[in-house]
Order: sequence, then structure tokens, then C-alpha cells
Amino acid sequence: RDTEQAEIDDLESGVASFTPPKDYSRFDHLPLSRKTLQGLKKAGYSQMTDIQSRSLPLSLRSRDLLGAARTGSGKTLAFLIPVLERLFRAKWGPNDGLGALIISPTRELAIQIFEVLRRMGSAHTYSAGLVIGGKDLKQEKDRLARMNILVATPGRLLQHMDQTIGFDCSTLQVLVLDEADRILDMGFSNTLNAIVENLPKDRQTLLFSATQTKRVKDLARLSLKEPEYVAVREFV
Ligand code: ADP
Ligand code: MG
Repeated sequence: RDTEQAEIDDLESGVASFTPPKDYSRFDHLPLSRKTLQGLKKAGYSQMTDIQSRSLPLSLRSRDLLGAARTGSGKTLAFLIPVLERLFRAKWGPNDGLGALIISPTRELAIQIFEVLRRMGSAHTYSAGLVIGGKDLKQEKDRLARMNILVATPGRLLQHMDQTIGFDCSTLQVLVLDEADRILDMGFSNTLNAIVENLPKDRQTLLFSATQTKRVKDLARLSLKEPEYVAVREFV
């Protein structure tokens, strides 16, 4: 067995049987790949926030999840880490196509996510791209077919799904809906449903939201399978 396969085997059994140690509070208490731990360390992250420590044991196990926690609570790493770990354990490579899709309500937020991914994912070798409005459509089209991880806004993503030949989502492993409440507030409900219909059913879905509105719960019913719920409430 090569060393990467040995690490993957350890991680597979690690996430399946994970029970938090007594002093559970740090990323390196979790069964994470060396590359992810390296990236987190380099980016300066060591202690988990509440939403991270409570959701990661479930999301790493490839469960669908609805995570609710206020803005600023650290939801970005709560979904980027399971995305990277899922692809790592699947030995995802440059020719394996689209592995993860992260949908964000606005261009600015998508760019922020992309920057965090670049910093904390630096030890991994996946190709990652942004699909946001306001950039050259043709240039986006040409690069799309080669991407392993995409961070996208809903309108632009659906445009590519409808128009871009060779944009294939059939290999998708993980779908992330970030700031789902805001996506819905912005009127993207139908767009989101159309996107989800284009995606393989056999996938992991992580839905994060600052608030748990009825519409978020309706979306969860449509897009998640037997989800875990993690809500962090802080009294400030
Ligand atoms: P949210 O998406 O919930 O609004 P973010 O993921 O944008 O929150 O994180 C908010 C801020 O907290 C960011 O500046 C981020 O770098 C920081 N942060 C997130 N997780 C950690 C952590 N585990 N340790 C230290 N800082 C963190
Ligand atoms: Mg966020």
C-alpha cells in the first residue's frame, strides 16, 4: 500500500468512529488529512469555533447537514474542510472533473470564499475557479471544464448549465449552499431549484445559513437527504 492510501484508510476509519477527545477544541483533534492540517496551520487557524467543532464530525462523515450560525461564526471553514477532505479521500485528480460546487449569494462573498480556499487549501492540488457575474463569459467557459472546485453565484451558474457545452456536473460529490437565507431573500429560489435539478442525486449537501427561516427549511427539504441539524446560538 502506498502512503497516501494508508492515510486515506486511516481517515476513513477515523471519521467513521470519531468520538471527540476530552479536550476537543482544535482542528488537529479531528481526523483530517495532513495537507488540510498543514493549510489550516499556515493560514493561522488552530482552535475551532462552535459551528466548526459541532458540524465537522458530521460533515466529515459525508452526512448532509443544515448548519445555522450567525455571521462571523466561522461557517466558511465548516464547509471548506469537508469539501477538501471528501475529495482527498476519493483521490480526486485533475482529470476527475467537478467534485465540489459552492454556491454563494453575491460575487463579493464568492470571492471571499475563494480566497479562504486558496489559503487553507494551498497544500492540496485541486483546480478551483470562480463563476460569478461581471467577468468575461467566454473566459469563464473555457476554464470551467477543467475545474475540480467551483465557487459560484446562482444566476451565473445556471447560465453556464444552460449554455456551456462541456460543463459537466455529473461527477459532483459535494454541494454547498452558503448563506442560504440570503440566497432566498435575493429571489434566487427558482434558480436554485433549477440548479439542484441538474445535479446528481447521489451527493453530499451542506447547507449553511445565518437564520433558520421557513424558506430555508423548505429548501432543506428539497435539497438534503436525512440531514443532521446543527444550530449554534450565542447570547451576546
Ligand atoms: P461566517 O461565514 O459564519 O460569517 P466566516 O467563515 O467568514 O464566518 O469567518 C469569520 C471570521 O472568523 C473570518 O475572519 C475568519 O478568518 C475567522 N475564523 C473562522 N474560523 C476561525 C478559527 N477557527 N480560528 C480563528 N479565526 C477563525
Ligand atoms: Mg459566510
